[in-house]
Amino acid sequence: MIINKESYQNIVEIANQHNTTVVAVSKTKSVENIQSLYNLGQRDFGENYVQELVNKQQQLPKDIRWHFIGHLQSNKVKKIISFVHLIQSVDSYRLLQEIDKQAQKVNRRIDCLLQINIATEETKFGLNEDALRMLICSMQHSPLSNICIVGFMGMASLSINETQVRKEFQALNQLFNQYKSIQINNYNPHILSIGMSSDYTIALEEGSTMVRIGSLLFGSRNT
Ligand SMILES: *Cc1c(COP(=O)(O)O)cnc(C)c1O
Repeated sequence: MIINKESYQNIVEIANQHNTTVVAVSKTKSVENIQSLYNLGQRDFGENYVQELVNKQQQLPKDIRWHFIGHLQSNKVKKIISFVHLIQSVDSYRLLQEIDKQAQKVNRRIDCLLQINIATEETKFGLNEDALRMLICSMQHSPLSNICIVGFMGMASLSINETQVRKEFQALNQLFNQYKSIQINNYNPHILSIGMSSDYTIALEEGSTMVRIGSLLFGSRNT
């Protein structure tokens, strides 16, 4: 598959107008595909699977900023801890503790996003509002020194209904603003990671500061 330079530059330009970072989601795509996009200037890439990420990281330029965006099992954290740039899919305090513990061993502080469940149509991974409140409460009582919570991530329903998707993004943006002013150590939420290929233009209108785009850049995935 040949990366379409024009559509890449078009997406980056639209994102830049909103001061939004584009993360190229490269899951299932080859290192050659990733290298082509890298050659056009892309540096932020997102992956869902630990082993796939580790393999690609070893073969590709070291200045790539790797985002982990899939469900992360605690026992696999150590495999990515030495190089991961941002873990976008933290959905429990237990996972946060494990990231903190492994980060300490390699003397790093790892930026994390809390994945919030905003989809109403189907259940996906992520914290609901109660779980979010409890996680923040745990952070207040026993702060973790080798992580920093830098924002929220969410996925809208796989809905063809634009109104529904917009509502979900608005709800998350509202929650994000509500939680922004809380004062805790290692808590500095300024990233709102919403928007994928099918809904990133809506996300940009609803306050996204980071979009995660796969199929629009790399073509559809064979699953
Ligand atoms: C696969 C994936 C994306 C990108 O999806 P596209 O529809 O291909 O843009 C974004 N975010 C997450 C969490 C993903 O798993």
